Order: sequence, then C-alpha cells, then structure tokens
Amino acid sequence: TQTLHIIGGGMAGSEAAWQAANAGIQVVLHEMRPKVGTFAHQTGLLGEMVCSNSFRSDDNEQNAVGLLHWEMRAANGLIMATAEKHRLPAGGALAVDRDPFAQSVTDALMVHPNVTVEYGEITELPRNGHWIIATGPLTSGNLAQAIAAETGAEALAFFDAIAPIIYHDSIDMTKAWMQSRYDKGETEEERTAYLNCPMSKDQYEAFIDALLAADKTEFKEGETAGYFDGCLPIEVMAERGRETLRFGPMKPVGLTNANDPENKPYAVVQLRRDNKLGTLYNIVGFQTKMKYGAQTEVLRMIPGLENASFARLGGIHRNTFLNSPTLLDDQMRLRSQPNIRFAGQITGVEGYVESAAMGLLAGRLAVAEIKGEAAAPPPPTTATGALITHISGGAEAKTFQPMNVNFGLFPPVEGLKSGRRGRKDRYKAYTDRAKQDWQAWLNGAPVSA
Ligand code: FAD
Repeated sequence: TQTLHIIGGGMAGSEAAWQAANAGIQVVLHEMRPKVGTFAHQTGLLGEMVCSNSFRSDDNEQNAVGLLHWEMRAANGLIMATAEKHRLPAGGALAVDRDPFAQSVTDALMVHPNVTVEYGEITELPRNGHWIIATGPLTSGNLAQAIAAETGAEALAFFDAIAPIIYHDSIDMTKAWMQSRYDKGETEEERTAYLNCPMSKDQYEAFIDALLAADKTEFKEGETAGYFDGCLPIEVMAERGRETLRFGPMKPVGLTNANDPENKPYAVVQLRRDNKLGTLYNIVGFQTKMKYGAQTEVLRMIPGLENASFARLGGIHRNTFLNSPTLLDDQMRLRSQPNIRFAGQITGVEGYVESAAMGLLAGRLAVAEIKGEAAAPPPPTTATGALITHISGGAEAKTFQPMNVNFGLFPPVEGLKSGRRGRKDRYKAYTDRAKQDWQAWLNGAPVSA
C-alpha cells in the first residue's frame, strides 16, 4: 500500500488526513507542535483555532462561507462534524468551544486505524512519495526556506498586504469612470483597465481626517512586520503627511473625469480588476490595518463607493503563502514537483473554513491519484471549486493576495438581475447550483461546466 504524508495538523492537514484515511489510505501526519511552537498557537492539539472561535456564517443559501460548510458536510468533513458537536449559540454563525473542539479533532485522528501522528518539525522538501504540505500561515522558518529554494523567493510571501476588494456591481459608475493613467496601453482594454473615483479638495481633507481618526488593529507580539516599502498601510501614509497619499496611490495625474471633464479632481482613488470574471475590483495601494467597522465607514466616503459592498476588507498579517497561480496546477500539485500538493492557507486562501476546504480537496485528489483514478477538480460553480479555480489561475498572478470565499468568485448565473436588488435571488441561485454540482462531483458523475 502507498502512504500519504501530510505536513501540518491544522485545519487543512487534519481534514486532508481524515478524508484520505477514510478512503482506506495509510496516512502519516507530521505536526511540529508541541515540540516547536508558533507565536499564535497555544496547545499541541490538532485543529487548533488560533484566534476567533467562529467558523463564520452557517447560512448555506445566502452566504458563500455557509455554502462551504454545506459542501464539507456533504463530503463527510471532520472539521464540520466536530464543530457541530461543540457548537455554541452564536446566532447565524457556527461558533465552537475551541479546546474541546481541537481535542476531538485530535482524538478522531489518533484513534483512526489508518492514521499515524508523528510529532516533529519537517525541515526539508520531500523528494519522493505522496505529500501534502499544509503548514499554514506560520509555516516554520526552516521549511519556508526549503520551499522558497524550490519556488524562488519572490513566489513565497511572508506577509499579506490586502487591499479591500469590492463587488463591481456595487460601484456607482455615474461618479466613477474607466481609464488608465495617461491612457497607457496597446489595446482599448488596457487603456481603460482602471476604475477611478474622483475627490474634491474638501472630500480629500475629510477623508484624511477620517483615516487619522479611525480605529486600527495592532500587530501581535512576535508578528511585527517592520512595514516594507511600497506596502505601507494608507493610514500610516496619512500620518506621515496630509499630502502623502495625494502624491502616492491617490495622485490625480494623467486622468480626466469622464463624468465631469471640466473639473480636475484633487485626488483620485483607483481600483483594478481583481479576477478574470471582472466581478471584483481591489483599491490600488489601499492596504490597511483599520478595524473592519471603521474601514467600511471610511472607504464609503470615496465618491462612487458610497454603497460599496465588500468581498473582503483590507488587512496586513504575518502570513506565509505561495504565488499559487504560477506555482500550482488545478490538482493542487506543485508544477515543478508534482509529488507534492499544497493545502490550506499557504495556498493563498484565507480563514479556517477556506483552509479546511482546501485540505478536504487536497486529501481527496491525493487519494484519487494514489488509487490511480483520474479526478477532475470540482467545477467553479461550487464554493470549493471557485476557490481552487481562483488560486490556481483565475486570480491575477502579479498582484495575488490571499482570498476569502465569496460569490464574486463564482461564474454568474445567467438571466438574473444584477445589483443590490437581485442579490437575494442571485445568491440563492448560486447556492442551489453549487449544491447540485458538488453532489455530482462527489458522486463522480460528469458535472455541468
Ligand atoms: P494551521 O491551522 O496554522 O495549521 C498548520 C500546522 O502546521 C500547525 O499546526 C503548525 O504547527 C504546523 N507546522 C508548521 N510548520 C511545520 C513544519 N515545518 N513541520 C511540521 N508542522 C508544521 N482565521 C479565521 O478564520 N479566523 C480568525 O479569527 C483567524 N485569526 C488568525 C490570527 C492569527 C494570528 C493568524 C496567524 C491566523 C488567523 N487566521 C484566522 C487564519 C487561520 O489561522 C488559518 O486560516 C487556518 O488556521 C489555516 O489552516 P492551515 O491548516 O492552513 O494552517
């Protein structure tokens, strides 16, 4: 029999081990804790939640995270089943009693006849055999170095610097317009690649005041970034001088407001397409450590974004992750060394739920390969498929930053109303389609594209 080795017993590694072991594969799970720790983990347990005790929304009809819950439950997921056992009252969210939760995940794997847990840090990239690397945002330094040696240093990041991402259909195009600075570009598409939001002097001054006053998140001890150049949070830029942003990401040069050509904007906020579908736009250079509540309030002061709906908010965190669009194939294998799969947050997804889902998928794909069965990845109409499609090629590689699951990653359902009004029906249509396609994928039937 062939053994599957998994490095990292967090959300992704635990789920991958469970999926493979239940399919009859022998699994060795390598976990460095408690021998070697991280700045965030507190225990030696598998499946430890390092911060919040919530798996976010459990609504599987109107919410993409809730849909991921549903898909993992349908696939007999360990993380979801264990969460259910230790569920705490939390309204529509799936929150759990964290220590008993992690203890149960640990027990389930320890007693499984097909799983062996080996404690100790892995410091080298394995050359032979079937491996999944699921070492997470706090991958140990030694292993990170070994990964960087294989992928090239520029393809492995140690911090994320996430600019807020907005649903295109929530932007007011009577105020915003499409134009690249100085109309640069060979094609019409390139000359209109950016979405611009104009600001008057008064609006700019009010915006800077709000930035300076906003609540911000501090770095945790041991996490400290020492901001790298080109990656300063906007509020730090504003602290350096009231004009810094106007000479940085908000400079108004080379742009003419198509909605009001006579009026030269005092400052301009630029947004750039974030996915091939064109449903998501990120605000260029707007990485921020503002708290989420403050962030939406401040950003909605930008003309055109008054009713913005956010696919994800900005942040800067310690986070080891790969440039997956260039490195991984749709089977989650490292293109340069296909005996190694990656799973979890290190692939460029973000959050407990997304990471567990990428573990579930990697586990199942590895099983299929070991058994010599061909397995297509799940279609992008499913939440799991939308994520893997995004990270393995749907996202722009050059600006790739970690992603939460959201409906902007799904191919649109035709014939439905766009914008806010149609949202409820649209989300229901997405989740109905996803459930059907996920079930079909699990059953191994050909799936609709
Ligand atoms: P992890 O769960 O981190 O698991 C990786 C495992 O690999 C760990 O057990 C680690 O010990 C082990 N490991 C690392 N290197 C090696 C090695 N060389 N050899 C052997 N084992 C190794 N997500 C949320 O949804 N909500 C939150 O509130 C939240 N808060 C966070 C706060 C912080 C400070 C951090 C760092 C992350 C937070 N996240 C949060 C993200 C969350 O941690 C991840 O989404 C999730 O845990 C990732 O799952 P994973 O399996 O990829 O990694």
